[in-house]
Amino acid sequence: MSEHANLLRRHRAVLPSWMALNYTEPIEIVGGKGSRVTDAEGNGYLDFFTGILTNMLGYDLPEVREAVERQLATGVVHTSTLYLLRGQVELAEKIARLSGIPDAKVFFANSGTEANETALLLAAYARRSDQVLAMRQSYHGRSFGTTGITGNRAWTNVSYSPLNVHFLHGADRHLPQFAGMSDEAYIDACVQDLRHVLATATGGDVAALIAEPVQGVGGFTMPPDGLFAAYKTVLDEFGILFVSDEVQTGWGRTGQSFWGIGNHGVTPDMMTFAKGLGNGFAVGGVVARGELMDSLHALGVSTFGGNPISMAAANAALDYVLDHDLQANAAKQGATIMGGLESAAGRFPIVGDVRGKGLMFAIELSDPGTGEPSPPLTAAVMEAARERGLLVGKGGLYGNVLRMAPPLNLTDAEAAEGLGILIASLDAVNGEATS
Ligand code: PLP
Repeated sequence: MSEHANLLRRHRAVLPSWMALNYTEPIEIVGGKGSRVTDAEGNGYLDFFTGILTNMLGYDLPEVREAVERQLATGVVHTSTLYLLRGQVELAEKIARLSGIPDAKVFFANSGTEANETALLLAAYARRSDQVLAMRQSYHGRSFGTTGITGNRAWTNVSYSPLNVHFLHGADRHLPQFAGMSDEAYIDACVQDLRHVLATATGGDVAALIAEPVQGVGGFTMPPDGLFAAYKTVLDEFGILFVSDEVQTGWGRTGQSFWGIGNHGVTPDMMTFAKGLGNGFAVGGVVARGELMDSLHALGVSTFGGNPISMAAANAALDYVLDHDLQANAAKQGATIMGGLESAAGRFPIVGDVRGKGLMFAIELSDPGTGEPSPPLTAAVMEAARERGLLVGKGGLYGNVLRMAPPLNLTDAEAAEGLGILIASLDAVNGEATS
């Protein structure tokens, strides 16, 4: 039995069946440097999914590794927030400044789920309301509260929720009722629907709208730029708070703006973040208007949240992003790859759509005969890319979207290499599907 098959057998015996594994023959990654990883059987790959957008500067970046090693050398891995934490103060100062939120304050947790739970608590308490608006096709985490605001059946076990949630349109213009609409007409239809939801389905005050500027698990689906500004005009009429879930879209990944929501020209009341910030070390958090953050009357703590090790990694990672203007690099490399994919797509009837922003791009696969979403073709292209040395992710409401989010410091040569492998993989699977 191969190394991977043996580990898979042990994995299946003791880990939950609902923890999805990529590939018919899952792999163990045992080494990484830059944008490349090696598996336990010695195969090398260019990594375009980076541990679900989390190794945002690739693997083993000296600046991050050395910052963590310096912290380890002090002997202090953990102190708790009962003591002053220099790394937290420094990182909070940077994030508050970058957020554009007036008088911002930051709370650090360990994950995107915890970050969103915190935002929900802040909003529900500030507004004395359990009513929340969220987007269809969204994903916000795996706790009770965050599955409650997740609009994707594949990730939702039960319907009961601590919150009273209504789901909005906005990232679903592919639906037949919106076919042929211009951006303006679609935004207008969504805004009318928001007003109708508020008038008919909610009672009393609504706490917040939470939304991903580009839906991650949803398959990098996104509203036209400007939708959230239009929504915010309505929310402001009712005093409803706006939370942007930047867990996937933060730190310049979308190229055009530092936060995903910047593409809509709007500043939210709160933003949540996690994933890439620690470049693999666990860190999540919320940045909110100071008076909102301070409004909770009860005490609160996150024991591991913002620990010295994750703060060392996150401060170094964020400094690196800013010092090297990686937002500009995301715009440049993303344009190269997406441009290449868009020009190739016409040759491949299996490609239903190519979309994205910066280094966050996706290919939707459809059955060439029916035009219906095709999970099998998606899986086939994913396998074909892996055989050719490229790791990519999967998502979408029907598991019919290849998602890619390479490191923000991707080089020109790596962008060209990844693009070449993607096109070759599409070519191979398209050939089989249409022969
Ligand atoms: N929010 C978004 C947009 C996400 O994509 C995810 C995870 O994929 C989460 C929240 C939850 O983050 P975590 O898995 O760190 O709890």
